[in-house]
Amino acid sequence: MTAPTNNKSLIIEEYPVPPFNQQTQPIPGLASKMEPRPDHGETSYRGSGKLTGRKALITGGDSGIGRAVAIAYAREGADVAINYLPEEEADAVEVVQLIEAEGRKAVAIPGDIRSESFCNKLVHQAAEQLGGLDILVNNAGRQQFNKSIRTLSTEDFDATFKTNVYAMFWITKAALEYLPAGSSIINTSSVQAYKPSEILLDYAQTKAAIVAFTKSLAKQLGKEKIRVNAVAPGPYWTALQVSGGQPQEKVQHFGEDAPLGRPGQPAEIASLYVTFAQLDNSFTSGQVWCSDGGTGTL
Ligand code: NAD
Ligand code: MG
Repeated sequence: MTAPTNNKSLIIEEYPVPPFNQQTQPIPGLASKMEPRPDHGETSYRGSGKLTGRKALITGGDSGIGRAVAIAYAREGADVAINYLPEEEADAVEVVQLIEAEGRKAVAIPGDIRSESFCNKLVHQAAEQLGGLDILVNNAGRQQFNKSIRTLSTEDFDATFKTNVYAMFWITKAALEYLPAGSSIINTSSVQAYKPSEILLDYAQTKAAIVAFTKSLAKQLGKEKIRVNAVAPGPYWTALQVSGGQPQEKVQHFGEDAPLGRPGQPAEIASLYVTFAQLDNSFTSGQVWCSDGGTGTL
């Protein structure tokens, strides 16, 4: 067999490279209004029964990375509940249709995870409507850039910690009532945990907290045969970035510094979440898996 050279068939997709058009949206932003529209795997992800019969709750499942994971999980045979903010209904409706197109059950539960009582309700509703729960993906996140600690308000700091840290704690705690042995918890951290930007002081701290939460909880839950892992994305082309996550000049050049010369598309990270959830990956826990286009940060 000869090694392939210049083999175009090895390139799955030619993805967009910067510069991108100027664009801003109010937080939380919609994937459907982004230019170019992110690829969540709608037409490309092919499943092979890796999660047949599984039941997953994915926060932030309407858009970006969470949406790509929802599509992948449904195509791998799982029933999927998604949570998102009420303002994101238009994106969420598309995800529900994509899950149902696979013949899988889709449960849509809008609501704000900064509230502990809503987090409890979310988990109970998801488990009730799915008929159980064995995969939890804590993926929802808040990122609002701020140039100085002097202008970072307590309200902003609090909202970022509530969304990224407290909600993960509340949702995970509630989910333990349902998760049987063999279940998988997957948290979305970030390269920001390891290489914090100066304009993401609050956000970067939460992403570091998620790494410590993941590693500590993996030790607690090992005896129950529940695995806990995290994915640490680098620059991915999602609504989070164009709705206050980055200043305009960074949006236009987003991903340019990555060795691959562009941002990742959500479709390119979903299989990491599939791998962590798979039963045959049963000895991997307490790990952080980075996908950032080649810096070798982790
Ligand atoms: P996204 O905006 O598409 O997804 C984030 C989701 O979080 C939103 O869709 C929203 O539904 C949810 N959310 C935010 N605040 C909420 C609240 N109060 N209540 C309920 N839901 C809420 O963007 P994304 O980039 O796909 O983000 C997914 C995760 O990936 C986040 O945790 C983010 O921090 C992380 N991440 C993203 C990047 C990137 O470059 N895009 C890099 C590293 C980490
Ligand atoms: Mg969204």
